[in-house]
Amino acid sequence: MYANIIIDISHEKVDRVFEYRIPPELEGQVDVGVQVWIPFGVGDHRRKGYVVELLPRSLWTQGQVKDIAGIVAGSVTAESRLIQLAWWMKERYGSTMNQALKTVLPVKQKVRRRENRCLVCRLSRGELEQASAEAARKGYRARQRLLDAFLENPRIPYDIAVHQMHLTGSTIKPMIEKGQLVLESETVFRNPRMQGERLGRLVDLNRDQQAILEDFCRRYDRGDRQTSLIYGITGSGKTEVYMEMIDHVLSAGRQVIVLIPEIALTYQTVLRFYRRFGGLVSVVNSRLSAGERYDQFERARTGEVQVMIGPRSALFTPFPDLGLIIIDEEHEGAYKSELSPRYHARETARKRADLSGAALVLGSATPSLEAYSQALEGRIRLYRLRERASANSRMARVQVTDLREELRNGNKSIFSRKLQEAMEEELQAGHQIMLFLNRRGYSNFVSCRSCGQAVKCPHCDVTLTLHRNGRLVCHYCGYTIPSPRKCPGCGSPYIAGFGTGTQKIEDMTRQLFPEARVLRMDLDTTARKGGHQEILSAFAEGRADILVGTQMIVKGHDFPNVTLVGILAADLSLYSSDFRCGERTFQLLTQAAGRAGRGGQPGRVIIQTYSPEHYAVAAAARQDYESFYRQEMAYRRLLRYPPYCQLLSVMASSGDEKLLDEAMEELRQQAAGEEEIQIIGPAEAPVYKVNDIYRKILYLKHENYDILVRIKDTLEQCGSRARWSGHVAVQYDFA
Ligand code: ADP
Ligand code: ZN
Ligand code: ZN
Repeated sequence: MYANIIIDISHEKVDRVFEYRIPPELEGQVDVGVQVWIPFGVGDHRRKGYVVELLPRSLWTQGQVKDIAGIVAGSVTAESRLIQLAWWMKERYGSTMNQALKTVLPVKQKVRRRENRCLVCRLSRGELEQASAEAARKGYRARQRLLDAFLENPRIPYDIAVHQMHLTGSTIKPMIEKGQLVLESETVFRNPRMQGERLGRLVDLNRDQQAILEDFCRRYDRGDRQTSLIYGITGSGKTEVYMEMIDHVLSAGRQVIVLIPEIALTYQTVLRFYRRFGGLVSVVNSRLSAGERYDQFERARTGEVQVMIGPRSALFTPFPDLGLIIIDEEHEGAYKSELSPRYHARETARKRADLSGAALVLGSATPSLEAYSQALEGRIRLYRLRERASANSRMARVQVTDLREELRNGNKSIFSRKLQEAMEEELQAGHQIMLFLNRRGYSNFVSCRSCGQAVKCPHCDVTLTLHRNGRLVCHYCGYTIPSPRKCPGCGSPYIAGFGTGTQKIEDMTRQLFPEARVLRMDLDTTARKGGHQEILSAFAEGRADILVGTQMIVKGHDFPNVTLVGILAADLSLYSSDFRCGERTFQLLTQAAGRAGRGGQPGRVIIQTYSPEHYAVAAAARQDYESFYRQEMAYRRLLRYPPYCQLLSVMASSGDEKLLDEAMEELRQQAAGEEEIQIIGPAEAPVYKVNDIYRKILYLKHENYDILVRIKDTLEQCGSRARWSGHVAVQYDFA
């Protein structure tokens, strides 16, 4: 047996592997992830290395392969486990070991260490309120944000102030000069024995929360590592329960990873964890540079930090003794990677937990069908929270309006009469409103009323999107042209925008309610660094009456003054080619509804739709997850979709259509050899041509996941030997 070994364990060097022979006396002990001693270089200096791959035969052709000298004692490090995890990901999701290692290992890069300091407030509560009011009057938004945050957090890490709250020296310095706050030194802040500074519980758990916590702790202490799912409605206090679980695991001397979808990772959320665990908490997000990220991971490795919060990739934090992984909003689509290896964080977290003997806790108000079906089968421990935790918070009243009926009654506007009336009332009362649309852009596309053709991208198989600056943009390749005055097909001048986007909603809202202050939040308005937080803060501070936005506005934000949520077209996410579109629609509608009435006032939600009878819409209107679950599962069973069946999509792409067809046919025949497999396609991908590359898809379904993984391996081998190898790219993706 032979082994591939890497010596320098950093992201860029993982493709530099060295082959060694495993001597007979070490056979059976050397495995992927094991740290070994090897003779290296001309002088055969002893070096440490990690095994990343076992080879039955030597691939080395020149001269003799050296022997591994021995196994490093006590060698199971965080890195060993991450390498094992990478191996598992490569096998399961079909990527190269290289890609997998690059996913789990951080990019090593020297950075100036981030400042480990803390902003400490020197003002009394009364002075704070006064200063905040003054900042508001003068329009110092950033300063106001900081002062308001101080009301609940007397100490705020410099890190969070800069990276999450987007404050700069020009805000902070004058406040220090005025004596409103001081910068406290590193030694105080990063003392590993912070226990004393942890503030302890901020609320007393209610009975249901307490019961979950006690059961979890009992099982944890017994060594029971079954996955748990906390299925609790929005605002039922899941986060409070997570924090107590974290506390329990930290007291056992182990570390914790908390995954939160990026979009919900606001500084308010981060500060909540910080308030509880002080400097033991750190945050990573996608806006960090590679070096900053490396620095955060180093802190985790050395024990300086013990709780890491972040999106999907925080899962690879190299904690030496990981004891718990929490995945909040486990149903979120963002937990699936779109890059190779196309892993799902839920599954990968389970594997990571197994490798470290850690527990895994999932939480959601609308669990994924995968998690909930396992919970009903008893494979996942199910915990429920049925009521809002905060005493003055009630679930909103939901009404549905049928847009077809509106049209029949002569209302051509995008606002139903009911929604218009409700908006008037709430504006009168001085309350805030959120309008939710699951689509961006001004109008979806431009089409000709004479010949019916829509204006398309010449390189991709999609219609171009009209933006308010008058340009048409391809959202796939970035191709852009000015909006034409005549139809490019037939020359007719009757050409116009169709569909409705957030920009258009914003314009129409302003027309209908000229007095109201309107803010818009979508990918276009948040592209700038910190733009996201700016808009949320402005709305939270009451600087606007109406917030118009895409799904970004429905995730995890608490706006106590919002009493009305309008969902403009519930169907928009219902008719896509993805079998999960019903599930996604239900989740979005339920979450949007959960935004109303979080403060003292009762909230209401108006769902506008063309298909009020669709079960996803109807169940969301009743806020009835169980009924949705039953109908959706019936549909999945009928059509053999996950979680009943496993689904592997094989997408091939090439600039050469002929070769593409040949490849697809060969792959299909290979797969067809398997018993009980169901094959759909090959068919053109939903967008057939992107950037002049054609794409086709084959769907393979089988009840047994392992068999599907084996088929994937067979197809990969077939692809590497085929005539079209090198001309057709094939990508495997488990749904
Ligand atoms: P979730 O994570 O389920 O959305 P949170 O943990 O964020 O819920 O709680 C929602 C709100 O209720 C928060 O403001 C939180 O402080 C409050 N809360 C949670 N648990 C309690 C409790 N036991 N008593 C009082 N308030 C609570
Ligand atoms: Zn035309
Ligand atoms: Zn394009």
